[in-house]
Amino acid sequence: MVTPYPLKFQPDFKERVWGGRALEQFGFSIPEGAIGEAWTIADHANGRSTVANGPLAGKGLDDIRAELGTAWFGSKGSAAKNGRFPLLIKLLDCQDDLSVQVHPNDSYERLTEGELGKTEMWYILDAAPGATIIYGLQQGVDRDAFAKAIAEDRIMDVLEVVPVKTGDSFYIPAGTVHALRAGVLVAEIQQNSDTTYRVYDYNRPGLDGKPRELHIEDSLNVSTYGDSGASRMETTLDSSHTWLKLAESPYFLTEKGQVDGRWQLHASPESFVIHIICEGSGSITWEDGTLEVKRGDSLLIPAQLGEYWLEGNMTVLRSQLP
Ligand code: ZN
Repeated sequence: MVTPYPLKFQPDFKERVWGGRALEQFGFSIPEGAIGEAWTIADHANGRSTVANGPLAGKGLDDIRAELGTAWFGSKGSAAKNGRFPLLIKLLDCQDDLSVQVHPNDSYERLTEGELGKTEMWYILDAAPGATIIYGLQQGVDRDAFAKAIAEDRIMDVLEVVPVKTGDSFYIPAGTVHALRAGVLVAEIQQNSDTTYRVYDYNRPGLDGKPRELHIEDSLNVSTYGDSGASRMETTLDSSHTWLKLAESPYFLTEKGQVDGRWQLHASPESFVIHIICEGSGSITWEDGTLEVKRGDSLLIPAQLGEYWLEGNMTVLRSQLP
């Protein structure tokens, strides 16, 4: 039996038409090309991360789930509907605009077998001056108005565009029309799903030179008209060593905290914890060891780790199952 310890992963990198090279700043050796996504904690048919440290190095998150699932992920963490790890964690480098898109919820009847809906949230690690994102439909836009705008190639007329800056947090429930746009570096916490319905792709070619597929009918079906429950906030912290809630959904609870010195924390037997280091550097120490951590790292804390300490000067996110 392997003694529990915090897991760091080798991400699965994805080339994207809108990607770039910014993920190199986190010390990753990324493949050539326009790399848009690092799937840092992933157990999905389309991508898996592998353990980079300790006795389990080289194993995939899928292997960990199969061999150690309930003990390491906690009583809630091993009950995911598709049998896999319940969350998917990514870092996104948006050098260009992402397609305007929307995700279904778990009950959409046209979901592919084994796929789940996708509620997600973004924490903005870095934003260029003047950067914006697409964040929902404008007020009063119903299905007919949305369909008409798409058909007449003037979708931007019905979308809400909002400014974004470093440290902002966005909660995007399934059904919210959205798009990240050029100039942002994002940490994404989401349901473990890869189902995206693309509404609009700026009439641009994909990586293979052909336009990427659009999914207009599915998009119209799954979009929420009226309040989707999306929310956004600035996340300035007044003090260190307390948690500020960024998003609470049926799928994840995410908070932000500031480490300044030594912060004692405790794993819960009910759920793993995921820490993403947003700023700064330091270490994590537990009963049997210590590990250096820095900006861009994602850590999976096993449910049975017990007490642990974050130490140093850093901004961290904490995500767990609600
Ligand atoms: Zn999305």
